[in-house]
Amino acid sequence: MAGPFSAVAQRLVADTSVQPKSDRVGLPVTDRAAADASEEAPALRCTGLVKRFGPITAVAGVDLTAERGEIVALLGPSGCGKTTTLRLIAGFEDLDEGTIEIGGRLVATADWCEPPERRRVGMVFQDGALFPHLSVFKNVAFGLPRGNGRDEKVRAALELVGLAGYEERMPYELSGGQQQRVALARALAPTPEVILLDEPFSSLDAELRASVRAEVRQILAEARATAILVTHDQEEALSISDRVAVMWQGRIVQQASPEELYHRPVSREIAVFVGDAQFIPGEARGRRVATELGDLPVHGTAQGPVDVMLRPEGLRLIPATEDQEPNATVLTRLFYGHDQLMTVRLDTGRTLKARLGTYGGIRPGDRVFVSVRGAVLTFPREETT
Ligand code: ATP
Repeated sequence: MAGPFSAVAQRLVADTSVQPKSDRVGLPVTDRAAADASEEAPALRCTGLVKRFGPITAVAGVDLTAERGEIVALLGPSGCGKTTTLRLIAGFEDLDEGTIEIGGRLVATADWCEPPERRRVGMVFQDGALFPHLSVFKNVAFGLPRGNGRDEKVRAALELVGLAGYEERMPYELSGGQQQRVALARALAPTPEVILLDEPFSSLDAELRASVRAEVRQILAEARATAILVTHDQEEALSISDRVAVMWQGRIVQQASPEELYHRPVSREIAVFVGDAQFIPGEARGRRVATELGDLPVHGTAQGPVDVMLRPEGLRLIPATEDQEPNATVLTRLFYGHDQLMTVRLDTGRTLKARLGTYGGIRPGDRVFVSVRGAVLTFPREETT
């Protein structure tokens, strides 16, 4: 483990390993085989979770796994059931169907559930939810039993989040980002199996959000913590997590690495939800597809009428030359500094967006040649294109 927090992180992690197995995994110490098996179990395994509120099915059969040390983002639109899923894992709601295992130990079924304080789960809420009348030290110590190295654990957790020396400050004396780091220290201090973070950056302004997000990712990695992070922000999910679970109408519809999710979404809806996606019609023949932008290689294989997904950064624009016949006209240009977004109208009449570096001298009105970088993803044809 490298980085400034390493020694502290090792101390926190080491704390878990010195606990007797019976305490840590809820099994008799003599049951070595079962305890060893739980070492290999994922930190979290949810199977077929269902939760209804009267006529509303908020969670409709969620399967979700987090391996040890993994950060999993639970990404989905408002109302799709993300927070309810988190509350089921934490033990704040009872299950209607399914099972939850934490660290290889069954903690909830439809008939039985272990109370939240025994689940070895830490929570970080949207606004940090610190106790306003308690110092930073007392906030982090809250819930840790006295003695048994408590003060040492609090100091180690504060050092881990870069707030050593802030012990006596009150929450109102901290910035929003510092408050979120105290909340994270409080969740990490008891060395839980899983940390649940519910939209932890949503109360921060845009600039702070990006830096706190990067810090939190670093801290979780240093602590080797397993985390489930709820967000409706696709950029946040892609940038902070090892895997993203996309939730839609109460179900997980895709669980994949950020790269796979972005480049190989399993449906058009997910393609659009996780980034800018545009579609052109094509006629596929195995590994190639014929389109108005030429004959393109396909990821995998496809047959017959398809819609071809194009991300704006997947298009290339070349100024027309004597050797290169143009096939489009640039309509608009938005300059962002690090890149620029062009709208082009193909000679076929279709309008597409292209994201480019900022060093080319292409301007609105220019005739250009538009081509596609690399292989394309195809979906069965929808009649709207
Ligand atoms: P958001 O991103 O807006 O927080 P979410 O994806 O976290 O949304 P949930 O809060 O889990 O969604 O809600 C899922 C569905 O369940 C919604 O239709 C919501 O109105 C409903 N719901 C959640 N909690 C309750 C409750 N206690 N009683 C009744 N309905 C509820």
